[in-house]
Amino acid sequence: MKQTLGNTGLVLQEPLLWEKGRKGRSGFSFPKRDVPSAVLSSELTGPGPDFPDLSELEVVRHYTRLSAWNFSVDAGMYPLGSCTMKYNPKINEKEAGLSGFQNAHPLLPGSLNQGALRLIYELEQFLVVITGLDAVSVQPTAGAHGELAGMLLMYAYHKSIGSKRTKIIVPDTAHGTNPASAALCRYRPVPVKSNEQGILSVESIAQAMDEETAGIMVTNPNTLGLFEENLQRISEIVHAKGGLVYCDGANMNAIMGIVDIGKIGVDIMHLNLHKTFATPHGGGGPGSGPVCVRRQLEPFLPVPRVVIKEDQYVLSEDFPQSIGKLHAFYGNFGVMIKAYSYIRSMGAAGLKKASQLAVLNANYVKERLKDVFHLPYDRPCMHECVFTDKIQQASKIATIDMAKRLMDYGFHPPTIYFPLVVSGALMIEPTETECKEDLDHFIEALRAISKEAEKNPDMLHQAPFSCKVKRLDETAAARQPCLAG
Ligand SMILES: *Cc1c(COP(=O)(O)O)cnc(C)c1O
Repeated sequence: MKQTLGNTGLVLQEPLLWEKGRKGRSGFSFPKRDVPSAVLSSELTGPGPDFPDLSELEVVRHYTRLSAWNFSVDAGMYPLGSCTMKYNPKINEKEAGLSGFQNAHPLLPGSLNQGALRLIYELEQFLVVITGLDAVSVQPTAGAHGELAGMLLMYAYHKSIGSKRTKIIVPDTAHGTNPASAALCRYRPVPVKSNEQGILSVESIAQAMDEETAGIMVTNPNTLGLFEENLQRISEIVHAKGGLVYCDGANMNAIMGIVDIGKIGVDIMHLNLHKTFATPHGGGGPGSGPVCVRRQLEPFLPVPRVVIKEDQYVLSEDFPQSIGKLHAFYGNFGVMIKAYSYIRSMGAAGLKKASQLAVLNANYVKERLKDVFHLPYDRPCMHECVFTDKIQQASKIATIDMAKRLMDYGFHPPTIYFPLVVSGALMIEPTETECKEDLDHFIEALRAISKEAEKNPDMLHQAPFSCKVKRLDETAAARQPCLAG
């Protein structure tokens, strides 16, 4: 081990267990053997893994130290744009941990599982009200999974009316998963540029939309954190040519209780329960990406669906036009419980307030930083704002340098180099759960960094200084992952 212990306060370095182990150490003791020893045939066991020998304390310290390296929203502000890393109230975990939920077996007959089925049913009803659409399936288990469900629904709808369409319009401000989901369904994504205000113009869609096009996928608010103000007129154009409107609703945190998605002409939308509805996320799951639809698309929703029959909640497969099953059982039930608990504890007024504060916080950050960072779209934003490194480029400082330096100031960096529509993006989503003092600290840190960029760019190129690891070779990490230990 080359680095010294305790190099950052009392955050300790930790080698791999294989480097730590010493032959003969052990974390347990067996009673003395009273039978002859026998060697297991290597034919049965193979050569066997090379486990290191370690004491109990070494193992405890190893995992405890690693756990302290995790950064989480419980430890500090997590302003990752597009990710909605809001604080997740602990009551939701408690509800999900109730033994009735935790020990419920998914194969229990419905009659013994009424509580769980009712929760799913009611959650879907809440999401109907929140979106203004007519029916929901909470089966998809991620945002992108919800998009895939939405594309399959679009395909099933067109097939049912005998229309064969091959293309989908996807604006340049859509989330990257959108064109991927469309392509997975064999649709060809047709890119459309946003206008100088960062949103879609009615004319560009009128030009792109034709009878070969199945519909449009719009992220709203879009990845620039801007509201697609023309969506209602765009929907009319798409509908007039027989297409459907898909809305990526992963950014719902900006508009809960404010925008009626159904009224602006959207036919299909997915939500991210693990963003907007306060489920801890990051690191790959578990998530939930409910797909919400207008009445005419309800017959195609994934099965099984929770329905009420003779006063009982039942899981029904009786939807002959359904696109089928998208996940084992009914999706990630644990996430549904947390979202249900969050919605019930916030209430309608609370959800609306959350969105208002998320938008207020993002605009506060934007206004207080726009004199030192280039703001490509200088207009009111929704729940996130996007700067670039254009000003700092003059002293050869790039977004990555500033993001790295921010860690020295004790902040998780914002999302960088996304969205792709602006070069060198720095995308900040503070969420509604940060208080003004913490926002001010974050703003001060970024302002200090903008000064350093001017006065001391060489130093900034070396940042971070106080982190356990500094500048990682991210390409090598992806191309040659070390999975063996
Ligand atoms: C996060 C996000 C997604 C993808 O959601 P996952 O759960 O990561 O698959 C899609 N669209 C937008 C706008 C998002 O912010």
